[in-house]
Amino acid sequence: MRSPIPDYLTEALLSVEFDHSGQTADYIPELATADPDCLAVAMCTHDGRLYSQGDCDVQFSIQSISKPFVYALALADRGFDEVLDKVSVEPSGDAFNEISFEPGTGRPLNPMINAGAITAHTLTGPRGATPSEQTSRIIDGLSAFAGRRLEIDAAVYQSEITTAYRNRALANMLRANDIIDGEPLEAVVGYTRQCSLLVTVEDLALMAATLANRGVNPVTGAPVVPAPVVRQVLSVMATCGMYDGAGDWMTRVGIPAKSGVAGGLIGALPGQAGIATFSPRLDQHGNSVRGLDLFRRFTSEMGMHLMEVPPAGPSVVRGRRVLGTGEHAVQIVSLQGSIRFASAERVLRDLEDVPLTQKTVAISLVRVISVGDVARRMLLEAIRRLTLDGHDVYLIDPDRVLPDPDPGDGGRVRVVATREDITARLKRSAT
Ligand code: GLU
Repeated sequence: MRSPIPDYLTEALLSVEFDHSGQTADYIPELATADPDCLAVAMCTHDGRLYSQGDCDVQFSIQSISKPFVYALALADRGFDEVLDKVSVEPSGDAFNEISFEPGTGRPLNPMINAGAITAHTLTGPRGATPSEQTSRIIDGLSAFAGRRLEIDAAVYQSEITTAYRNRALANMLRANDIIDGEPLEAVVGYTRQCSLLVTVEDLALMAATLANRGVNPVTGAPVVPAPVVRQVLSVMATCGMYDGAGDWMTRVGIPAKSGVAGGLIGALPGQAGIATFSPRLDQHGNSVRGLDLFRRFTSEMGMHLMEVPPAGPSVVRGRRVLGTGEHAVQIVSLQGSIRFASAERVLRDLEDVPLTQKTVAISLVRVISVGDVARRMLLEAIRRLTLDGHDVYLIDPDRVLPDPDPGDGGRVRVVATREDITARLKRSAT
């Protein structure tokens, strides 16, 4: 069978193709020369399958889409405390280049507006790294997200740096507020280089998919940033990624996203996919007009809104039964699905409401797909309490979905691969 997904993406492009509203950015003169009719979309699943349609080979400068990735590198390199001390995480409701700082601290309000992004740029690499080492760190880091070597577009860089009066003003203010150290102009030079990196829509989809995949590039397998960093970055993208259109975006589209003035737009759907669009005409907020339309379409047609609550799945407790009789009786509680907090709570409730009747009990994870960390601790605590209540507890876990099964403190559990292993053991101990 031929997958219908490429056809769907082509159809989506056709549905926006004739919208010529908006304008290419011209405050960076080189961007005004872009072909305004370019249109492309790419989607990369969390396990690395890439679909793309339209002008997917056209390269354009990454611009502000570099911001979440550089923020991620800063968090990974310097830790949360140092970065949060210099850049807050509050939506600004302002334009991307607004000259606004948090009253009292002088910090930029978030890392998605230019003031915060210039600061994040200076927080990459080890402490004491030179500006050129920081730029190299960023090119290497963004290339790891993209899974290929990215290069700077010299013409875009030159064009922006010669007209970057506002960003220079921002950097000077940051220096005066003691938020950045070093020469402000060097920070703007590095930041402008970062914004001039050339990407295709496919690169962007893979970069977003790396965020969707807990910081591991799903194509190259390279761990790029740790999972807690990804959580922070996606949260900030969700609340601040779309400039002064952030609230409207979050309610209508509901995907952590970031746009850039060259016409790129990315969305990262945790655990599912990275999506990117490219269309250079922008609306008054600086977001790609046709990109916004495509994302709205994806959300409504593919149910991608982050706050969309999935219908309840089948109960986590699949069933209970007693096998064998007398001394050889084993009471098996079979669980199923992916177990996180709410499902684990359901298991505890079930064990409390209907006490187990046999001395030997087994919790079967044969049909369980995954056990989240909090669920793991809750299940182990249940096992500990069952031991203290006088039960001999087994865990049937052939795929080891529950790692490190140590209930601690008076608890005891034996891990086996099949229920026959338990009956065999009982028979052995009876003889
Ligand atoms: N390099 C651009 C600037 O700082 C990025 C703006 C954007 O993409 O929104 O003005």
